[in-house]
Amino acid sequence: MNRRSLISRSILATSAAVIGSRLIAAENTLLGVDEPIAVALNYVEDATTVDPNKHPKKAGPQGDAQNCASCALYTETEDGVGTCTAIPGRLVQGAGWCSAWVPRA
Ligand code: SF4
Repeated sequence: MNRRSLISRSILATSAAVIGSRLIAAENTLLGVDEPIAVALNYVEDATTVDPNKHPKKAGPQGDAQNCASCALYTETEDGVGTCTAIPGRLVQGAGWCSAWVPRA
């Protein structure tokens, strides 16, 4: 291996390590409401702020009971926060809500 090849491989390895660490850093972090998947799912961090006129699914007493903590796709991992199978690798607020809410069986 010549010197140029060695330097190129070193740069590639360093770049891969930096990119990998950034991906790991994003893993299991709280989902922000402005992120594309959150916007697509109408995710909010506080289910009580959802306008039932815009989201009829959230209307009435049954709608009031909907939040991430009561969703079949949610698994609490720490106090008030958990994973959601609709949003792999990220954490959502137990008090949150999105339009993909699913009742527990
Ligand atoms: Fe919360 Fe369920 Fe929507 Fe996931 S699918 S963000 S747990 S309401």
